Amino acid sequence: MIARTATHEHRLEALTRIIHEVDVAPNLDAALGVIVRRTREVMAADVCTVYFTVHEQRRHVVAATDGLSSDLVGRVQTGFGSGLIAQVAGSSRPVNMAQVPEPLNQEFLAQAGAGDYRAFLGVPVIHKRRVQGVLLVRQREARRFDDADEAFLTTLAAQLGSAIAYARANGEMCNVCRAEADEPRRFDGSPGAPGIAIGKGFMSFTADLQAVPDRTPEDPAEEEQRFRRAVSSVRAEITQIADELNEALSPADRALFDAYALMLDSPEIVASVIQRIHQGNWAPGALRQTIDAHAERFERMGDAYLRERATDVRELGTRLLLRLQGGGTSVEDCPPDSILVGRRISAIDLGLLRPGRVRGIISAQGSALSHAAIIARALGLPAVVGVANLPLSALDGQEIIADGNTGQIYLRPDPALRQAFSSLIEQERELSESLSSLQNLPAKTPDGMEVALYTNTGLAAELSLATAVDSAGIGLFRSELPFMLYDRFPSEQEQVSLYREVLEAVAPRPVNLRTLDAGGDKPLSYLTIDEPNPALGWRGIRLTLDHPDIFLTQLRAALRADIGLGNLRLLLPMISDSNDLEQALVLIDQAQRQLLAEGLAVTRAPVGLMIEVPAALFQLPQLAQQVDFLSVGTNDLAQYLLAADRNNPKVSGRLDPCHPALLHALRHIVHTAISMHKPVTVCGEMANDPGCALLLAGMGFQGLSISATAIPRVKWAIRSVSAARLKTLAEQALACDRPEAIHRLLEQTLREAGLERLYRPPP
Ligand code: PEP
Ligand code: MG
Repeated sequence: MIARTATHEHRLEALTRIIHEVDVAPNLDAALGVIVRRTREVMAADVCTVYFTVHEQRRHVVAATDGLSSDLVGRVQTGFGSGLIAQVAGSSRPVNMAQVPEPLNQEFLAQAGAGDYRAFLGVPVIHKRRVQGVLLVRQREARRFDDADEAFLTTLAAQLGSAIAYARANGEMCNVCRAEADEPRRFDGSPGAPGIAIGKGFMSFTADLQAVPDRTPEDPAEEEQRFRRAVSSVRAEITQIADELNEALSPADRALFDAYALMLDSPEIVASVIQRIHQGNWAPGALRQTIDAHAERFERMGDAYLRERATDVRELGTRLLLRLQGGGTSVEDCPPDSILVGRRISAIDLGLLRPGRVRGIISAQGSALSHAAIIARALGLPAVVGVANLPLSALDGQEIIADGNTGQIYLRPDPALRQAFSSLIEQERELSESLSSLQNLPAKTPDGMEVALYTNTGLAAELSLATAVDSAGIGLFRSELPFMLYDRFPSEQEQVSLYREVLEAVAPRPVNLRTLDAGGDKPLSYLTIDEPNPALGWRGIRLTLDHPDIFLTQLRAALRADIGLGNLRLLLPMISDSNDLEQALVLIDQAQRQLLAEGLAVTRAPVGLMIEVPAALFQLPQLAQQVDFLSVGTNDLAQYLLAADRNNPKVSGRLDPCHPALLHALRHIVHTAISMHKPVTVCGEMANDPGCALLLAGMGFQGLSISATAIPRVKWAIRSVSAARLKTLAEQALACDRPEAIHRLLEQTLREAGLERLYRPPP
């Protein structure tokens, strides 16, 4: 038996160390290994075991153990009903027994299959209110685990809970999940963009080694050559960087480059990758396996300096991967009829998609308000986002159903399920077809109230969609999206061509060109914004006011593009006070004066203010009087009002568009705007939902700017409900103190109007 340890200080030290080791563990298996090994050691217990809870199958499965045979992993399991493990999982509290009563002990031992143990301490592993598993220790002789033992195990369980959730969200597999890998499975995420897609998973893994799937190479010899070319080119790159920096580098720093070069020559890496290629994995997959194995060896070392070397190994792996991808991204290789799957699908990935290749999107991270989801909606692609528990690399090449209406994913569906979803797709198609008869008809209630429906856009590829439908113009052109597709700031002339194309395609209808709103979840690869809290950081107008050069170039380009058309309107993002607004207006004037002085016949474009920072709510009259129109960005307004990061799936459920605080803010905005005779629209995602669109219209918003693909449904809803009913709906909703009650009202209103097919459950 391991010797009993010691004092509280030792415990604390041990805890800190274990938490650090779990933090840096490269995958869940390694993290579990650390936990069971170290816990058993520190608590001087005979056994430490982690069970995983598999909710779909109502069972707990051994995921890792120290002290019992590792053969039990993935094989020993217990149901939700009775027994010690079920008791811990169900109690949300530690279960501590110096001597487990005999029948219960026999039941446990029958399940655990080994040994003669008396004492038991088990704690539930919980993440986001959901049990993820159980962490337990056992002792042969009777032993009363004390308060400190309980506290120790509880702290580790909390750490383990987030490690499991993180690993699941990133699609990492542990032994237990792997055992289930071939079964049909369902995963729950959030609805990202409506619609249902059935197709084969295609993994997007741009320079993300952990996300690389295993694939069988067509020609291993060619794959080996491809890898050798990547090695030579990375070696040349490293030598070049080291030579260029030679003067500036200290001998110690220089040694790092030498170490990279040595690793590239070492058999551990190059030869192992080649061996794995010939054993049947393609080069990126063989590289991932090799780098993982090599880095893990460093990560296990006691010495902090050597542990840190694991980072260098991983960095080298990423560089090699980039070369294997030819510097580009895997998204461009996506075959037809794919469901694009990734850890974090970005707006850029979607911008690079070849039209017609992808049927749907699955992103393990992100929420419905992430920009990738917004673009998926604009492109009419069903999307599921924020999916915990997703075995990312195992989805590659597998048949998947992505249900963007409910946020569910079905992996390897059986024929009956596939058939059921195929009929749903057919029904959706029929509905869309029948709604095409509404084209060219106004979004007017039966008693004559008209709501102008504009389109949100930002990518040229969407333009055909945006113009194909009969919208009143472009209510929000997210100009940062084209910026994200460049590898440097686009020049003034490049921007003129880009904006001209949009303005011409839409004229005489207006285009609200929102000035660059980079930052947050829309970083520019060529502008380093390294911030701990990007949503509260340097984004939107804050960035462009600090860079008048960038701002003026954009304003000049927009004004030049508008010459002879006159349908440009400028929209300013993230304004939080009069200083922001006045400085932006000065720069707009300056751009116009410069161009006039250059002899160009530019005209003054109307200027609008985005209301999306809560501070603007309380200065509305002062701000509104300086602009021509207002546009409410409910995505950010909700994020800041409710203090919930729109990209964080852990809290995205809180970003309910029907939150009473948001509705009261919206009412304040619309009342102020109407009293000041300033046109006001909503351009946030909530307006895409037919129920919410009715609510906004009832509040008095005269315009909504939404995805082109959402227009027919929202128009159908508005044409089906009278203005009088909409006003009552708004009054009733504003009297509610909970989002759920408001959702019920919306559902009821849609049902009454025969629009139940438009109802979408809350996030
Ligand atoms: C918003 O914040 O609601 C908005 C429309 O802008 P974006 O989603 O691009 O931040
Ligand atoms: Mg915004």
